[in-house]
Amino acid sequence: MSSHVELAGYSPGNVAYQGDDEAAYLDRMLERKASSLSRLEGFSYLELTPMQRLFVTSYRCPVCKLLPLYALNLEHRNKIRCGRCGNVILFPGKGKYGKLRKKVAYAVWCELRGRYDVPR
Ligand SMILES: [Zn+2]
Repeated sequence: MSSHVELAGYSPGNVAYQGDDEAAYLDRMLERKASSLSRLEGFSYLELTPMQRLFVTSYRCPVCKLLPLYALNLEHRNKIRCGRCGNVILFPGKGKYGKLRKKVAYAVWCELRGRYDVPR
């Protein structure tokens, strides 16, 4: 956890740095959605174990492995794809946490669509 490691890739205006910034924004947004939807479902996100939290905020792609839910492409409800490689993802939404995960994924997707919606 030495700070010079974190600073090694830093240079202002650098594209990679802006990418990190964007990832931090997305991570915060994902946590916020997971937390508020947990509350609506009647339990506390903070009381989940780290593994349960990971489960409700990520999905597994056969190629890219574990990715955060905001990387998911939910454009077609019946054919959910990995936003990174385009693989079709099995996303059943079964069980208490599966249902929550699905809700979180759609909440994040809607927010991103609103944010990135560019008129054509
Ligand atoms: Zn993938």
